[in-house]
Amino acid sequence: MTQPGLILKEIHKHSKHAFELQEQIARIPRQIKAQKTRIERMEKEFKDFQDHLKKLKVTIHEKEVSFKELNTRVAKLQKQQNEASDNKAYDALKIEITNTKAEIAKVEDEIFLSITEQEEKTAALPEQEKQLKAAKAEAATIEKTSTDRKSELEAQFAETMVMLKAEEAKLSAEHLGKYMRIVQSFKHEALSPLEGKTCAACATEVTSQMMNEVRSHLFVACKSCNRLLYLSENEERVIRQSQAEYEA
Ligand SMILES: [Zn+2]
Repeated sequence: MTQPGLILKEIHKHSKHAFELQEQIARIPRQIKAQKTRIERMEKEFKDFQDHLKKLKVTIHEKEVSFKELNTRVAKLQKQQNEASDNKAYDALKIEITNTKAEIAKVEDEIFLSITEQEEKTAALPEQEKQLKAAKAEAATIEKTSTDRKSELEAQFAETMVMLKAEEAKLSAEHLGKYMRIVQSFKHEALSPLEGKTCAACATEVTSQMMNEVRSHLFVACKSCNRLLYLSENEERVIRQSQAEYEA
C-alpha cells in the first residue's frame, strides 16, 4: 500500500494539470470567436469603403448635372439681360448672373475634390482587398491550428483524468470519503504542500506533531483551511540531503 501522503501529492499534480488543461481548452473557442469578429469587422469596413466609392460616383454625376444646369441658366440670364428694356431689370439680372456664376465656381470646386477623392480611393481599393484576403487566410489558419490544439489538449485531459482516478483509487475507503468532501468545496485546490511547518495554501503553521505526520506521509488535514497536506518537493529534498549527511 502506498502511503496516503505520497498518493495525495500525485493527486494534486494531476488535478492541477487537469485544471490547467481545462482552462486552455476553454480559451480556444474564445480565441476563434475573436478572429471571426475581427474578420467580420474588416469585411464591414471593406464594404463601407466600396459603398462610399459608389456614393461618390453618384455625387459626382449629380454635381455635373447641376453644373450644366447652372451654365444653361447663366446663358439664359445673359440673353435676358441683353434684351432688358430698362436699367432696373438689367441691374437685377446682372446680380443674378454674378450669383449664379459664384455657384458654378463652388460646384466646380466640389466636383474637383470629389474626383480627387474618387481617384485616391479607387487606387487604394486593391490594397484593401488584399489585406482583407490575407486576414481571412490568417484567421482560417489560426482556426485550424486552434482546433487541432483543442483535440490534443482534450486527449491530454482525458489521459490526466485516468491517472487522477487511478491515484484516487489507491486511497483507503475512509480517506477517500474525506478527500471527496474536501474536493467538493476546493476542486483542484483541495490539497496543499507543506513547506517547513507552513501550509502553502493558507500560510498557517501546523504543529510539530502534524509536521512529523506529514513527513511520514500520513493522511493529515490542515486545521486552518481543511486542505489535505503532503510534503513539498522542496521539503523532500531537504530531508533527503540531511539523511545523506547523517549517513556520511
Ligand atoms: Zn491550510
